[in-house]
Amino acid sequence: MNNLYKNVKNINIPDNALDILNKLSEAGFEAYIVGGCVRDSLLGREPMDWDITTNAHPLEVKKLFKRTIDTGIKHGTVTVMKGQEGYEVTTYRVDGDYKDHRHPESVTFTPMLREDLRRRDFTINAMAWNPDKGLVDEFGGIDDLNAGIIRCVGDPMERFDEDALRILRALRFSAQLGYDIEEDTARAAKTLSDTLQRVSAERIQTELIKIMTSDRPTRLLEGRELGINKVILPELDEAIACDQNTPHHQWNVGEHSLRAAETIRNDKILRLSMLLHDIGKPSCKTTDEAGIDHFKGHAEVGAEMANNILRRLKMDNASIKKICLLVRYHDIMMKTEPTDKLVRKMLSVIGPENLDDLISVKKADVSAQSSYMQEEKLLGIERLKDKALEIIERGDALCLADLAVKGADLIEAGIKPGKEMGDCLKAMLADVLNTPSHNTREYLLRHIKNYL
Ligand code: ATP
Ligand code: MG
Repeated sequence: MNNLYKNVKNINIPDNALDILNKLSEAGFEAYIVGGCVRDSLLGREPMDWDITTNAHPLEVKKLFKRTIDTGIKHGTVTVMKGQEGYEVTTYRVDGDYKDHRHPESVTFTPMLREDLRRRDFTINAMAWNPDKGLVDEFGGIDDLNAGIIRCVGDPMERFDEDALRILRALRFSAQLGYDIEEDTARAAKTLSDTLQRVSAERIQTELIKIMTSDRPTRLLEGRELGINKVILPELDEAIACDQNTPHHQWNVGEHSLRAAETIRNDKILRLSMLLHDIGKPSCKTTDEAGIDHFKGHAEVGAEMANNILRRLKMDNASIKKICLLVRYHDIMMKTEPTDKLVRKMLSVIGPENLDDLISVKKADVSAQSSYMQEEKLLGIERLKDKALEIIERGDALCLADLAVKGADLIEAGIKPGKEMGDCLKAMLADVLNTPSHNTREYLLRHIKNYL
């Protein structure tokens, strides 16, 4: 069982972080790397950032280092800059009361490392290390790392009541590490999940993205049992409750979506697109006389829903736009022969720059369906892609800017700028998408009446 050891002397820490530890220690202070970076180092994972905890007060830290930033002096945090990189150095502290289930009312500095570790969320996040003392593990973090368990430090009811975000973080770490949430911790999460309502959309978005870009987005299925989804993404619970009685599927809508997300490349946009691609299905479901379910129009409804959900989560506009596009068109051309004409139209709607991602979305979608006609569907997607690449390569006109006439030509031909010109150009593009040979200045101007 014990494949990790207490006296770990050989954590591979970057020289910069080691310099900071040494400098603090030479000045007579205690200093350790702490939290996520210790956890990840023990697991052989690349830490996101290297946080340092010390008994030196922020002003003492500032005196010792040339370049520092007052990141959160009140909370004891000074960022020490080394080259382009910043290292957060935080004074040992205990958190005051959490009146709003989000932020401590006040923080107090403490001389005891143990007290600082005690305020941290989970045992696996509550370990510290330095080259001199080795690992400091006061709350059984190593045992839980070995056993693969997410467990609160102390009483989970108290810890979740202080800060509801921890409930979502528990699920996030379980998705990132493949760990189980310990029973008491899970029970407390369930009891207090409603308090997640008080956590800001931005912080929920951050955690949701970390879950979706982990190795195990399907862990979000557990968010239903834990009562997390009903606060952060109730639409997913509806999808999980939505069975699909059709030969094409073997999972409910929610599980299908999460499995599809798990198979697609690890990219925020693609993962969220898969999460939401079928989100319109529950409200579009009909069942025919034979008992087979249909979901007509779900992609369009889904795109509208995705837009609302992502706005609610305060996602940036560019990401929202891209995800909604992929949701809206995830099902395009699945039942049609990819003729030149249709594929040109598809490219003009989605934009050739989005072809790769749309193809990835389609493949992931099919991979998470049933085996019924799966090979044919995947082959169809390949053919669609080949045809689209051929069209792009050939340089067929796909958007207004590709037309052989410009606005000035139309003005010369007596067309008024504004709506009339816009409509005329659109009609020309529609014609050229059908018949690329019409895309010459001569042809378009000669037939201009047809486009008005
Ligand atoms: P990652 O950086 O991979 O997201 P992490 O564990 O480093 O994971 P951070 O948010 O960077 O998480 O926080 C650093 C450390 O601070 C954690 O390991 C934990 O010890 C502590 N911590 C962070 N958020 C909380 C919280 N909400 N409640 C208690 N402790 C927390
Ligand atoms: Mg971190």
